[in-house]
Amino acid sequence: MTQLLNRILPLVQKPARYTGGEYNEIKKDLADVRVRVAFCFPDTYEIGMSNVGMRILYGVMNQMDGVWCERVFAPWGDMEEQMRQHDLPLWALESRGPVKDFDMIAFTIGYEMSYSNILNMLRLAGIPLRSSERQGLHNMVFAGGVCAYNPEPLADFIDFFCLGEGEEITPEVLDLYDRAKAEGWTKEAFLLAVSKIDGVYVPSFYRHEYAEDGTLEAVVPLVDVPAVITKRVVEDLDRAYWPTKMIVPSTEIVHDRANLEVFRGCIRGCRFCQAGFSCRPVRRKSADVLFRQAKETLEDSGNNEITLSSLSTSDYRELKELTDRLIPYCAQSKINLSVPSLRADNFSRELMEKLQTVRKSGLTFAPEAGTQRLRDVINKNLTEDEILTTCANAFSGGWNNVKLYFMLGLPTETDEDVLGIAELVYKVIKTWKEHAVNKKRGLRVHVATAYFVPKPHTPFQWEKQITPEEYLRRCKLLKDHFYSRSIEYDYHAPDLSRLEAVMARGDRRLGEVILAAVENGAKLDGWDEYFRYDLWLDAFRSCGVDMDRYTTRGYSDDEILPWDHIDVGVSRGFLLRERDRAYEAQITPDCRHGCAGCGANKLLKEVSCDA
Ligand code: SF4
Repeated sequence: MTQLLNRILPLVQKPARYTGGEYNEIKKDLADVRVRVAFCFPDTYEIGMSNVGMRILYGVMNQMDGVWCERVFAPWGDMEEQMRQHDLPLWALESRGPVKDFDMIAFTIGYEMSYSNILNMLRLAGIPLRSSERQGLHNMVFAGGVCAYNPEPLADFIDFFCLGEGEEITPEVLDLYDRAKAEGWTKEAFLLAVSKIDGVYVPSFYRHEYAEDGTLEAVVPLVDVPAVITKRVVEDLDRAYWPTKMIVPSTEIVHDRANLEVFRGCIRGCRFCQAGFSCRPVRRKSADVLFRQAKETLEDSGNNEITLSSLSTSDYRELKELTDRLIPYCAQSKINLSVPSLRADNFSRELMEKLQTVRKSGLTFAPEAGTQRLRDVINKNLTEDEILTTCANAFSGGWNNVKLYFMLGLPTETDEDVLGIAELVYKVIKTWKEHAVNKKRGLRVHVATAYFVPKPHTPFQWEKQITPEEYLRRCKLLKDHFYSRSIEYDYHAPDLSRLEAVMARGDRRLGEVILAAVENGAKLDGWDEYFRYDLWLDAFRSCGVDMDRYTTRGYSDDEILPWDHIDVGVSRGFLLRERDRAYEAQITPDCRHGCAGCGANKLLKEVSCDA
């Protein structure tokens, strides 16, 4: 395989994507390995190597005695062509062994538009796509990641899903597999045993029944398995595994920097945000542990940039203590420290000033909606005053670039809300004129609008998506109101977001569609170069599945949702209450102003939610 690969590599773009051999990759002697795991990321090397979850679980699995976890990424189109021409099956980077030789195939899935890549990767590996076509323990396919919170579109293909954070559940699953392999269990026996591990969902053990009108009528357990599967969380992040020895990529990746995860969960409760609800409850690492991990990571990797990551880093309780230690350390070593998603409070402004001494990064806001009314509907706790005050401060500190992100099609949105975006942008320009210290360079305001996608496990999970035509009308309405040369306006084409909505809220009937689309040639759908909407439309047509059922129809609140048997901690009652408050444009204060009773606290046994 290596010889053939070496012959092909000069013929493809970015060959370093396919070679492995990076600093800190983990190699093991096959003679000592009992369980081989091919850890597949259903996108390219550049995206996958930037994924924190993948880095964590790679380390967690490789810490286990007798387990060797290797990385596999989706090949770019030119490499796929070469692989097909030369009959080269998909391989893992560390050993360059074919994926087909591995005991277990794990996928981490964070984006619905990677579903075609999952099937395509299995196909390139020469592994049967449907779970029912794979016999025995060999090539057991399992998956996790945020998309597993609605696993049904992939139910036909994945043997089992691990729900929630993987640090603890993954070793439990691998230990069981190790035993099953040693004792020669059947696949059925293993699946039954693995379904007893908290957080594991085996789709083939449940039958989905549909009513005549096409709505889901029942999810029936066929064997002795839980009716509802609850996600797993790690209680003590200070003691949780963290990969301080990070693989240093041998080609440029999307986030080419060291990463420090400061806390999990979110106190904010933006009503459209799946991560905000599905990652609760809130747990944090201590500043001491983070500082030690930062130093170890930077010293080992030689990286010249580190970012403090989380869903909302300025909400990290010990941010001052941590940055007071990190800023001098980073400045001394000429390391860029980035603190994303700073808010507009006094401390953040001070911090922004201090970070300038290291290196100036861009100013980005995601107000999501143009009017205060709509920002209250979505519970985006960001006022116009806060945005303009932060802009004023940044402009007077020398910034001349602002990025503003919005969504179009949010529940209750009117044309007035759409035009509110333009008004806000002009206020930002006015603020620059009043405060900029360096006007010669001019101002650039980058405005981007995305097409709202209702997501499972959020208060908007029942909402309609507006039609693509209506979305484009709203984009044009906004565009026609931008006449300053300082403004750059980008809006996404609606096709991808429509498909994303279908996959996000889909059910088992989509399995056929995904398969048909992949057979039509769909792959790398998240990339403009490869996304072919026509292939998907053909697949929906040939399978007789109506996309509108999952998008513009909306779901009624007495309907069983395809993901109702998956419990992420936040209760359905809370989501319904939040939806009602949205309709009344009533905000729910962040969790520090008082616990709103989302229900996620029940996932913690030894500690309480640390919001
Ligand atoms: S349990 Fe309370 S404090 Fe914790 S995330 Fe839920 S609402 Fe917020």
